[in-house]
Amino acid sequence: MAEFDCEETKSLVHEYLHNELRPEDQKDITTHLALCDSCEEEYDLEVYLNKAITRSCDEEPPKQLAQKVLDSMRKSQQH
Ligand SMILES: [Zn+2]
Repeated sequence: MAEFDCEETKSLVHEYLHNELRPEDQKDITTHLALCDSCEEEYDLEVYLNKAITRSCDEEPPKQLAQKVLDSMRKSQQH
């Protein structure tokens, strides 16, 4: 069974949140998030972002917009 490292997990949190991964991958990421604070933070951010977007827009958000918001949030987190 493949396990994900942090980089892979963080790149998949969006798909994970939207249940777009294979069931076994969903399970592996659930396990990783439970064990890894850093990836859990990334997941929390994705959840927050997702809520913010669905609140302001009824339709499925364009991926570019989501990426833009996420990028600016990442930048503001860097010191
Ligand atoms: Zn991790």
